[in-house]
Amino acid sequence: MKKKLLLLGGGHAHLETLAALETIQKRGHEVTVVAPSPHHYYSGMGPGMLGGTYTPESIRFDTEAMVTKRGARFVRGLAVAIDAGEKTVRLSSGELLDYDVLSNNVGSYVKSDLIVAPGSTVYSVKPIESLLTLKQALLNRCHEKVLQIAIAGGGPSSAEVAGNILQLVQNARGQRPVITLYSRSGFFDHFDEKIKTGVTNILEAKGIQRVEGDAVVRVDGPSIGLASGRQCPADFVISATGVRPSPLFADSHLPTGPDGGLLVNPFLQCTAHPEIFGGGDCIHFQEHPLNKVGVYAVRQNPILLHNLLAQLEDTPLTPFHPGGNYLLVFNLGEGTGYLHKNGIRFHGKIAFRIKDFIDRRFMTKYQRLM
Ligand SMILES: Cc1cc2nc3c(=O)[nH]c(=O)nc-3n(C[C@H](O)[C@H](O)[C@H](O)COP(=O)(O)OP(=O)(O)OC[C@H]3O[C@@H](n4cnc5c(N)ncnc54)[C@H](O)[C@@H]3O)c2cc1C
Repeated sequence: MKKKLLLLGGGHAHLETLAALETIQKRGHEVTVVAPSPHHYYSGMGPGMLGGTYTPESIRFDTEAMVTKRGARFVRGLAVAIDAGEKTVRLSSGELLDYDVLSNNVGSYVKSDLIVAPGSTVYSVKPIESLLTLKQALLNRCHEKVLQIAIAGGGPSSAEVAGNILQLVQNARGQRPVITLYSRSGFFDHFDEKIKTGVTNILEAKGIQRVEGDAVVRVDGPSIGLASGRQCPADFVISATGVRPSPLFADSHLPTGPDGGLLVNPFLQCTAHPEIFGGGDCIHFQEHPLNKVGVYAVRQNPILLHNLLAQLEDTPLTPFHPGGNYLLVFNLGEGTGYLHKNGIRFHGKIAFRIKDFIDRRFMTKYQRLM
């Protein structure tokens, strides 16, 4: 019997399923994909796009084309509620879509509790489209004066964005900005001491400043207010304060983990509704929580594809094994990176070239399918 598969989001965990849409439909199933944009950006290359190493086109997938070329339906929209009893999904437009099997890859957003005065702008590191807007705004103003740039957050994305802003402004022959990273706790405090020291030294050598143990709480025109009461100048404010899974599941009263991600069992299947699956940043893996890194979303691809077909066709599911340690390379701008895996750590041009090679290979693999 013909069954309906509904995919929410065209993110990193759905790429193999999108590539297999023809096969899925040949097996008699009807597929609909919902996403708010015709494109999906690869976040690992987002800071490099900000710095001008990559064009926007080279770091995105044309999701709509991937779907429609394979004869499936693409709906441009935002899912706002899942009714697991009725097996329907409501979009922000009011449209209702029904499913037999539902897969979620709706990602995460930057959680921010900043109080923003009317007329002030805060750029966020996600969605990646926001870095494009930031890039244009910086190019528009970097010749006018020495800009004060405040980045709220003390993790990898704040370091990557800071380094790539310097690259952008330098290549545009603008005035070198003053960049300050503000972190509520310590800078890079989720990493071991050697990584923390290594990245700190690189940022210091670039003149990037840090304020630790004091969070940005207010954005007010050309200044920011810190938790301590201090006011600091800021022509640009960027929020990089960590990500949270999409609120879709909590809003839909589905089981969630403590972070609000869809609670899934080892089969990437919702613990309460066997016909609902998910992957990437939007899930909370019940066995043990996974870091919000694209590596896991990518590793989940084949399992998600297998299990969606298995659920449609009533065949056995396969468990997801997260795998061992993963390689992470931070792109710190000006052609340099910081690499670490299993106790190996180094920084410099080679580290960046390794990241660049891996990222370009990943893009080529899936862009070829468009
Ligand atoms: C600046 C930055 C750099 C990073 N660099 C790296 C790196 O080098 N390596 C690494 O492993 N990780 C990196 N990460 C982490 C990585 O971005 C995430 O782990 C990864 O994006 C997760 O992929 P995803 O597909 O689950 O989510 P996302 O990439 O967030 O994709 C979700 C998709 O769902 C769509 N969507 C959202 N809401 C809805 C909805 N309601 N209905 C329908 N569609 C929806 C979105 O438009 C988007 O296309 C970085 C993160 C940032 C912010």
